[in-house]
Amino acid sequence: MKLCIDAGGTYFRYALYNGEQELDTGSEKCNGIGFISWIEKLLQRYKVVKTIAVGYAGQVKDGIILGAPNIEVTEPNIKNYFQSRYDVEFLIQNDLSCAVLAEAKYFQTEEICALYVGSGLGLGVITNGSLLEGYNALAGEIGHIPYKKAPFFCGCGKDNCIELFASGSGLKKFKRYLQIDEALTLQELRDSTLTEHNELYKEFEEALLDAVGVVITLFNPEVLVLGGGIVADDETIFETVLARYREFSMLQSTQGLRIVKTKLQNAVLQGASLLKELK
Ligand SMILES: [Zn+2]
Repeated sequence: MKLCIDAGGTYFRYALYNGEQELDTGSEKCNGIGFISWIEKLLQRYKVVKTIAVGYAGQVKDGIILGAPNIEVTEPNIKNYFQSRYDVEFLIQNDLSCAVLAEAKYFQTEEICALYVGSGLGLGVITNGSLLEGYNALAGEIGHIPYKKAPFFCGCGKDNCIELFASGSGLKKFKRYLQIDEALTLQELRDSTLTEHNELYKEFEEALLDAVGVVITLFNPEVLVLGGGIVADDETIFETVLARYREFSMLQSTQGLRIVKTKLQNAVLQGASLLKELK
């Protein structure tokens, strides 16, 4: 059996599969719990697991975690840790890379980008049927391209990343900085009678459109999938992208392009289950 895991910055989620059949699922807030001990607990519960496949919110190369901004990991060489202690095969890949694998399968294309707007702004790219990874597995880090100066810093150490403007965590930082009620949704900011609220929404919208344009222009996908919590919760954002993406993209790159919203419940988990097919 295969244990698939979505290791995000807020939740750890898992699904246990026997072939295509899902046997069990679960999730836990990852605040303060170690990732390795959490998996070991699952292995005690499900002794029949032969493969562990992880979509991980961080920098991963060849089974080694190189960067983990939001997840506590005591053993970076996690593949070796599990394969040397348990009778399992251990597969791990960046979460957005997993997501785009699942999206490529769903949309049946070899030229696809998945741009997810959640607590971060993440991108997965498949071109010519292969996952784009980069020398240190950092290719496509759209959230950290320079955009404009913010009055606070990003987790990567810079203060001008586009993720500070076009993500859930960035919005939260701006709300705190501007002393705006953190509970206000994007829609409430947009519809508010206060100019300050409308301006924060506009900043978000422009930054997201800019990111969309960069993705289209750099990678020339056949399909651009938008996903993540913010896209799921706010219908208008997707409609706005559809209405305005051409303003931000090289027009030749938009020919034949389809921009769609994800149809998958958990693309990271589904993509993790596909990881073996990469080998
Ligand atoms: Zn950054």
